[in-house]
Amino acid sequence: MKRLLFTGDSVVEAINIENLAPRAGEVLLQMKASGVCGSDLKNFRAPKSEKPEISDLKVPGHEPVGVVAELGSNVGGLSIGDKVMMHHYTGCLKCSMCLIGYTQMCLVAHEVYGSTAHGGHQEYMVVPAYTCIPIPEGLDFIAAAACSCGTGTAFHAVKRLDPKGLDTVAIFGQGPVGLSATMFAAQLGARVIAVDVSKYRLDLARELGANEVIDSSSDNAEEVIRELTQGEGAECTLDATGIPEVRIQAVDSAKYWGKVCFVGEGNTTTFDVSAQIIHKQLTILGSWTFSQAGLSEVANFVVQRKSPMDKLITHTYCLDEAQKAYEAFISGETGKVILTI
Ligand SMILES: [Zn+2]
Ligand SMILES: [Zn+2]
Repeated sequence: MKRLLFTGDSVVEAINIENLAPRAGEVLLQMKASGVCGSDLKNFRAPKSEKPEISDLKVPGHEPVGVVAELGSNVGGLSIGDKVMMHHYTGCLKCSMCLIGYTQMCLVAHEVYGSTAHGGHQEYMVVPAYTCIPIPEGLDFIAAAACSCGTGTAFHAVKRLDPKGLDTVAIFGQGPVGLSATMFAAQLGARVIAVDVSKYRLDLARELGANEVIDSSSDNAEEVIRELTQGEGAECTLDATGIPEVRIQAVDSAKYWGKVCFVGEGNTTTFDVSAQIIHKQLTILGSWTFSQAGLSEVANFVVQRKSPMDKLITHTYCLDEAQKAYEAFISGETGKVILTI
């Protein structure tokens, strides 16, 4: 069977390995789709000189979707042929975070598939049975892969912002997570202002329901958001970029008593806490992916509300075209990109 590795300097290589077999408590998935997520790019771009031996590299891809092909011993609740998405973390299953389904926040230890354990960019994948979440009727493999990290992360960030139909939501960054947030906030009835530097992605944001778009390569996003809100700012803002200056804009574009949600990872950002946060009575949220039940929740929402996933997912590539897939994604001229297997 074939699997992909990031061998350094933005190169994807395919290697062949012996067929995998599930151990007790595990299942073998025949992979069907595996998403390309922005958080893979650091690993993709890392210099060859910093990479371990090929035998120590982990298969990337943390949005794995497949069909159960083989059951290990002591596996209940799953049958061969079941279509599943993977909640891509392990945990101790006993601590308070694991008990609420947030194994990624396990208080003891956890693995992340596609990072510390082998991920979805391969023909077959062995996973613990408890990480498999059934794909609801009406959701295809490609949309299920998007839900398994990027789109699910956006859904749960928007859910925590809890925008009302009368609210304006400004969403900074229209990569796959920001675009998904635009789609969900619009579906919940809010007025959405989408901010990005890419014309392609701003056009896509409009198609996904943004009422207004701001090209922050030429316009000052905070000023335009104030113009669009009678000088007051947006009730809710969300940063999907992780860029320090953009996080500051997300905070400064929020109205008094507003809510700000940080989703974009990395970097350090400095705020004048009194002027920018306390005196504006802001609520600042951090939102990191979702629980096992949360994966079902976003998948069901997408089916029930007919979320336009076909517009969000602009490019699919087969496993052999993964190099092309990552290059297309990096160009900024894509929405969500998925590998099909
Ligand atoms: Zn735990
Ligand atoms: Zn991700």
